Amino acid sequence: MTTTKDVVTALGTDADAAELGRVGDTLARLAPALDEYLRFATRDRTVTERDRWRAVLDAPLPERGAGLDTVVDELAVAVEYGCRVSDPGFSGFVTTGATTSPIAAAAAVATAGGQRYLLHAFNGLEHIGLRWLKQLCGVPETFAGVFTSGGSTANLVALGAARQWAFEQRGIDVAEHGLPADAQARIYVSTEAHRTIHRSAGVLGLGRAAVCDVPVDARQRIDVAALDAAITSDVAAGVVPLAVVAIAGTTNTGAIDPIADVVEVARRHQTWVHVDGAYGLVAAADPAVRSRLAAVADADSAIVDPHKWLTTGVGVGAAFARDGDVLTRAFAEGAAAYLEGSFAVDESSYASQFDAIGGPWADQAVELSSPPRGALVWAVLREIGLEGVRARVARHIGYARHATARAAAHPRLEALTEPDLSVACFRYRPVADVGDLDALTLRLVERLRRETPYAPTSTVVGGRVAIRPCYVNPRTTLADVDGLVDATVRLGDEESA
Ligand SMILES: *Cc1c(COP(=O)(O)O)cnc(C)c1O
Repeated sequence: MTTTKDVVTALGTDADAAELGRVGDTLARLAPALDEYLRFATRDRTVTERDRWRAVLDAPLPERGAGLDTVVDELAVAVEYGCRVSDPGFSGFVTTGATTSPIAAAAAVATAGGQRYLLHAFNGLEHIGLRWLKQLCGVPETFAGVFTSGGSTANLVALGAARQWAFEQRGIDVAEHGLPADAQARIYVSTEAHRTIHRSAGVLGLGRAAVCDVPVDARQRIDVAALDAAITSDVAAGVVPLAVVAIAGTTNTGAIDPIADVVEVARRHQTWVHVDGAYGLVAAADPAVRSRLAAVADADSAIVDPHKWLTTGVGVGAAFARDGDVLTRAFAEGAAAYLEGSFAVDESSYASQFDAIGGPWADQAVELSSPPRGALVWAVLREIGLEGVRARVARHIGYARHATARAAAHPRLEALTEPDLSVACFRYRPVADVGDLDALTLRLVERLRRETPYAPTSTVVGGRVAIRPCYVNPRTTLADVDGLVDATVRLGDEESA
């Protein structure tokens, strides 16, 4: 029989090649680079100097490891040339980087968080994070909740539950037996939908073409009469109306669908209602917006992305469902020997953190192993409270209104939307006719990003290309908002001179 001593003798050592401690020293060694990065003192050189960081980072797969200190020094180079979505001037898409408390929480999770399951403080933070998030967003506390990697997976999970429920109503367990061969089902959402709704439909076996794109009104909100008409005619043709999606803050313009009206239509057709609040549901913290989001309480499912307005750093979404059992029927892995199936120890007799799994999440979404993302949500909310979120949301909505008002008042700018949330859409319009305004707008967006500190993205509103800052970035100031508007006028005047 081989003994431990034989194994160690054969290998020469039983020490691992990786450093297993020294976390504090290591983070301290990286810290100056991190703090320097957050000063955003240098203009963007990540592209023009890409040979520099590539020369350091892009080596062949090493046979011999370089050791921890080299890793940290090379990481510092990656940090110097890191992603600039945290930069105060960045207002593109709906994204931004983490604030400091979730960075600390991420280090804590990486060190001590382990898995979100089993009984320990980070498992507790998963429960607490979900509870706080529900309260913040106006989602009833009785809803089940599960953290996901982001809005993409949260939408997939919610619509997977909708698919399960809709076919159960027709006597079919899709999770067990798959979709019936002749299944014809549709998901209804406005033309302003995030494309992850379509991808979800594809992944769920319905096909992207199963998404019915419902028209919007002049304020980019779903046309409820058109929604009703679409469902009515589909049902008459034998189609299963699988889910109606109301968008709580569209990605294009921040429009909030009339959620209560959507719920009313869906209920009449016995259809699941999902609220895609990836971006906007956090605005429920603002009393000026909360009533327009309140009908989320009447939905069957909803999602929110803490990694957007709550600045946890990317990788944190959440899905909620009125009936957690539907989630479980849709996503349960089923019993497995390696999961012991024996975690049902009476809570009063818990004596080890391995006595219980600590939450149903592994069977209510698509991940088993998962970091305890609730710790990041907890950190943000513990640090700044509802008050801090409320102030952030109100400030950012104010920025969008300010940019819109300035565009409306300027002789050579044009406001294209009236903001519901923190997205402004405007464009430069020269006095003299320059022909293709859309091409001019795209050129201005490119020049803004290359030549100024202001980095918005663009979208199309009612067929017209718009410069589209979306304010969720906590580092952005009013001066940055004015700076973007001023730079747009300056570059627009140059282009049309
Ligand atoms: C951002 C967004 C998504 C997708 O979320 P990710 O976290 O980027 O996967 C879905 N829906 C809406 C409305 C969004 O704004």
